Amino acid sequence: MSGKPSVAHTPIHSAAFCLTLLLLAASPAAAQPSGSRDIPVVRMPLAAWVASRPHALPDTLANFETPPDRITKFRALLQSLVARNWAQAAAQARSMNYLLVMIRDGGRTFVAASDDSQTGRDPTVIMNLIPRRDFIVGAPHVPFEPGTGEQAAIFLGDLAGRAAIIAGAHRCASRSFTACDGTTDVCGGAAERFRDSDAGHNVTTLYHAAHVLLAARWPSSVVMSLHGMKEDTDGVRTSVIISNGISADDTKQTVATRFRTMLGRRITQPGAVVSCNLPADAVHDFRRLCGFTNVQGRSVNGDANACRGNVDEGTGRFIHMEQDGSVLQPYAQGWRQIGRHAYNRAFISALQRVLPSVRGRDNDRERTD
Ligand SMILES: [Zn+2]
Repeated sequence: MSGKPSVAHTPIHSAAFCLTLLLLAASPAAAQPSGSRDIPVVRMPLAAWVASRPHALPDTLANFETPPDRITKFRALLQSLVARNWAQAAAQARSMNYLLVMIRDGGRTFVAASDDSQTGRDPTVIMNLIPRRDFIVGAPHVPFEPGTGEQAAIFLGDLAGRAAIIAGAHRCASRSFTACDGTTDVCGGAAERFRDSDAGHNVTTLYHAAHVLLAARWPSSVVMSLHGMKEDTDGVRTSVIISNGISADDTKQTVATRFRTMLGRRITQPGAVVSCNLPADAVHDFRRLCGFTNVQGRSVNGDANACRGNVDEGTGRFIHMEQDGSVLQPYAQGWRQIGRHAYNRAFISALQRVLPSVRGRDNDRERTD
C-alpha cells in the first residue's frame, strides 16, 4: 500500500521512455553485448565450455611448427577481438579454421576463439567483455594438468579479468623438442628437453603469440600461469608453490609475493602455501617448482630472450602457481560446487585484494592498432 501514484505516466515520462526504446533499438551495442549477428551465442557456464574443447593427445604429432603466416593471422584476429570488431574477427577466424563463440554465463559475457580443427592443436583465447581487473590468466598445460583449464575459466569470470589463454595440444603431443632451455621428465619418464608442443616452453606457438600481444596491449596487467604438480610424499606437505618467475628473493613486494601472503592468512597450515621468493619459506624445504624456465614468465618479466636464460630482475607482473591434486581436483571434477572449496575461496579473495583494477576509461579506449 502506498499513498503515492504507483507510476507517473505524464507525457514527459512517456516521451523519455519512447526515446530510450528508440535509442536501444537503433543501437544494439547499447542494448546488449553486440556481435550476435556475427558470432553465434551459447548460454552455458564458461568452465563447461572450456572443458568440452578437444586437445591433441601425447605423441600424436611429428612436430609443433607453426607457419609464420598463421601466427600473423592469429595476431590480426586477436587485435580484432580486442577492438571488438566482431565482423572482421569472424572473417579472420574462418580463414584460419578457428571457431568464434559468444558465451553468456549468467550475467557475464565472453567471446572465445578456439581451434576448430579436429586435432585440438592450437590454443583457446577468451575475452571478458566486462573486465574489472587488469588480469590475464593462462593454463599452458591443459590437459596434462587436469583442472587448470576450468580454473582459468573460473578465475577469469569470478575476478572479472580481461582474458584467458588455454592450451590446445597436450604438452607432450609432439615428438620434437623446443629450442628453449630447461628439462623435464613429464613426457617420457627420463629427463629430456621440453617438447615443442609445450606452450610454457616454446616461443613460436600461437599460445605465446597471444600472451605477448595481450600483455603488451594491457601493459599494467598481471599475468598468471596455472599449473599442477604431484603430491608431496614425505616431509611437509606443500600444496601450493607461488613464484614471480624471478630467480631472486623478492625485496619489492611483487604481486606474487603479496598473493602468497594473503593466501597464508586463509590457509594457515605451515608449509601448505609457499613462495619461491620469500626467504622465510625456505624452511619448508619444498620442491623448487618456480617457473623460472616458463617463457611467458620470462617475457612479461622483460627478458629480451624469453627462450633462454634466467631472469634475476623483472617487472614483477607474473604469478606462477603450482598446485597439488588436493587443490586442483575440485576444478577438474566438481567445478559446479567450486564455491565450497576452501582453496578456491582463498585464491579468489586473495587475488581480489592484490590484482590491479581496470581504470574506468580503459574500456572506451579499445583501438584497432
Ligand atoms: Zn605445468
